[in-house]
Amino acid sequence: MNHDLGLDHKVLAAVERLGRALGSARRHVATRHRLSLLGLSLIETLAEGRARRIGDLAAELDVTQPTVSDAVATLETRGLIARERDPADLRTTLVTLTGTGAEVAAEIAVELQPILGAEAHTAADMATTLRVLLGEIARLQQAGVITVNRSCFSCSHYQPSGARTRPRCLLLDRALRDQDLRVDCPEHQPAPL
Ligand code: SF4
Repeated sequence: MNHDLGLDHKVLAAVERLGRALGSARRHVATRHRLSLLGLSLIETLAEGRARRIGDLAAELDVTQPTVSDAVATLETRGLIARERDPADLRTTLVTLTGTGAEVAAEIAVELQPILGAEAHTAADMATTLRVLLGEIARLQQAGVITVNRSCFSCSHYQPSGARTRPRCLLLDRALRDQDLRVDCPEHQPAPL
């Protein structure tokens, strides 16, 4: 019997089950706020505080630009999202949350907090889980399944651990413990695949 294969399947089954449970919880929260799932994801993404172009949002959320444009227009109508000119390129529009949108984002974060189950795990377990999941995301990006990945493991500034050294961010010039790894880093520079 191939135990490695069996373990692969168990991990896949566990991730799929988690995905279904998270999807169900997110649908409930979206419905409560009269949002589509894409609208919910847009609000969560913009809640990080960094304005985004429509094209960036489309790539990040793995949908087409027209689909994101429609969802942004709906959220704009509700006063949750605003568009502004990109100071670096006046032909480009950036999308941000309005004050009302930020309030809704905060409510959503509170409502989704219980399903994260942070209090059920030690900080060390959570940090290890983060490292393993980011490793899986990097692997799926290499395989062409994920197109956008702005985490440390796909960054040209990331220096893996050596025989006597810890992983480092060369840009920030500091060691990166598991809990320091970034999922969506504004300083990320894609490393060659
Ligand atoms: S720049 Fe950001 S993504 Fe890149 S290694 Fe440093 S912290 Fe990680």
